Amino acid sequence: MKRALISDIHANLEALTAVLADIRAQNISEIFCLGDIVGYGPNPCECLDQVIRNAKVTILGNHDQAALFDPDGFNPVALQAVYWTREQLEASGEPNSINKRWDFLGELPRTHSDGLSLYVHGSAREPTNEYVFPEDVYNQRKMDALFNRIDRYCFQGHTHIPGVFTTDREFLSPEEINNQYRLGTDSIMVNVGSVGQPRDNDSRACYVIQEDDLITFRRVSYDVDVTSEKIYAINDLDNMLGDRLKSGR
Ligand code: ZN
Repeated sequence: MKRALISDIHANLEALTAVLADIRAQNISEIFCLGDIVGYGPNPCECLDQVIRNAKVTILGNHDQAALFDPDGFNPVALQAVYWTREQLEASGEPNSINKRWDFLGELPRTHSDGLSLYVHGSAREPTNEYVFPEDVYNQRKMDALFNRIDRYCFQGHTHIPGVFTTDREFLSPEEINNQYRLGTDSIMVNVGSVGQPRDNDSRACYVIQEDDLITFRRVSYDVDVTSEKIYAINDLDNMLGDRLKSGR
């Protein structure tokens, strides 16, 4: 079994294109997408079309949900991006492709299980909305509650910070483990990072390869300036959303 796990594309077509090419170059045909295809970025329709075409399994993210229903707890910048995204989804292309995208979004599941692996956007406890940050390893109650809901392995996104959470209250960044982690009999949670808006001070797109019991974190360079310039040219997308792509924060 060899599978690519991508998440948090956030309508960044340049990052997604680079990641899909990297996946193809390694002869991986199975792609799971852990949500947030849209939101923040300039190409929601194009990214949706690519995910519909290429992903075998896609999970609903909170920004995908926000395109469908008005969200709670979004800040003004994110909310403005939601409304702009919705406009694009309502107006871009033939009625056929418009309907196809809405139907796809409307039918996305919140979780997917395969053997001992669970796939979610946020967490095993609240699949769409809960954040599990590296510093949460100090919150024993939260860690226990999350691990209690996992058979063995949980793959998630949402924070845009890649790494592995172990049951001994450790967060291992990809750097610390040389981008690889071998799955054993202990439960773990793996954050696969973000394709289109990394927040771990590395601007390169991030995704994970799951090959049998080996997890590999991949970083892929793309032309960040192209995406940022698109964002700057769209009034409803705050310039900060372009700036943060360059710093990876
Ligand atoms: Zn996200």
